[in-house]
Amino acid sequence: MTNRQLFLQHVATTSDFPIGLEIERAEGIYMYDPNGRPYLDLVSGVSVSNLGHGHPRVRQAVKDQVDKYMHLMVYGEFIETPQVKLAKLLADNLPESLNSVYFVNSGSEANEGALKVAKRYTDRTEIIAFNNAYHGSTHGALSVLGDEEMKNAYRPLLPDIRFLEFGNVADLEQISDKTACVILEPIQSEGGMIIPSKEFIQTLRARCTEKGALLIFDEVQMGFGRTGKLFAFEHFDVVPDILCLAKAMGGGMPIGAFISDKKILDSFKNKPMLGHITTFGGHPVCCAAAKASLEVLLEENIVADVQRKGELFVTLLKDHPLVKGFRQLGLFIAVEVETQEIMIEIMKEGFELGVVMDPFLFYPGAYRIAPPLNITDEEIHHASELLIQAMDNVMK
Ligand code: PMP
Repeated sequence: MTNRQLFLQHVATTSDFPIGLEIERAEGIYMYDPNGRPYLDLVSGVSVSNLGHGHPRVRQAVKDQVDKYMHLMVYGEFIETPQVKLAKLLADNLPESLNSVYFVNSGSEANEGALKVAKRYTDRTEIIAFNNAYHGSTHGALSVLGDEEMKNAYRPLLPDIRFLEFGNVADLEQISDKTACVILEPIQSEGGMIIPSKEFIQTLRARCTEKGALLIFDEVQMGFGRTGKLFAFEHFDVVPDILCLAKAMGGGMPIGAFISDKKILDSFKNKPMLGHITTFGGHPVCCAAAKASLEVLLEENIVADVQRKGELFVTLLKDHPLVKGFRQLGLFIAVEVETQEIMIEIMKEGFELGVVMDPFLFYPGAYRIAPPLNITDEEIHHASELLIQAMDNVMK
């Protein structure tokens, strides 16, 4: 049997698009099949490979840590130095109130932990979330998914959740002194790259402060430079009470975190209730990779050029007759087309030509461009030529 046949038979699919292309190796913005055919990656493994595939410094950090140790025990018995160093580096690059890092393995887990600690800290139960929000697939994260139909098979989910309309300032009145927390992406990714007004985010911040509700920003997808700032909240001049990170954090290795003020995270400690426990959260090899990845991002000043690169894509694609518009911030771009059918056709044609894009979970009429942040101008020109060719083919 071929690997593709084995894949289809034995590996449970995690998405609706099991294309099943075998990749033998990946480097920079390219993935290569066993025949050496390149595929230009405009998805970055869904905003994971922000430094491209196999960045040498990240690879070296992984190798060095593997040679030291891979797992000790992380319930406080031993200090794992890679965790300490990463926590310090994160705290140094965040506002003062985001000074304590709880390490987990994924975005869903980061959001789970944030929701739980908000309940502990406020002693309240109500959670507020938004329409078209995606925060993960575990039961708690799924409970704050902003689409009722998609959740139907999994009920009962968490009670006491209220959904507001993303971007609607008047709706924020519903945040009350019963609200434990409000969870949202400051810029919605799977909603189709929806950028709210500064007024919306600032009113939300003020209302949460006034009512004593914790504000949780899920930056699992938008964090680590994707939008042209190191963190998306910087666009709005506000600071969340809890920041959730994952995806790009580990430079390709699985790690996540929820970050808050020490006094908030310490509320997990009050007995006799169970705090929050993880066996692998903050794995030393992943922490070493995450530290190297963040250092490269900072030292090479990569984020400073991200907005210009995003605009270059827009300039190169905007005159194509199939393109109806863009929503773009940094290197996260939604390219609007007329219908979902056209979007799917463009993605298929792109795949044939060797360029990989992605759809949005909640927004059928656009495709996503989210390449590694260190993509060069030359590579952007080449990627755009392939996209234009794919769109031309759809028009034929
Ligand atoms: N939040 C957001 C905004 C996401 O995009 C995702 C993953 N697509 C998650 C949370 C869940 O992360 P994970 O798949 O690592 O659990």
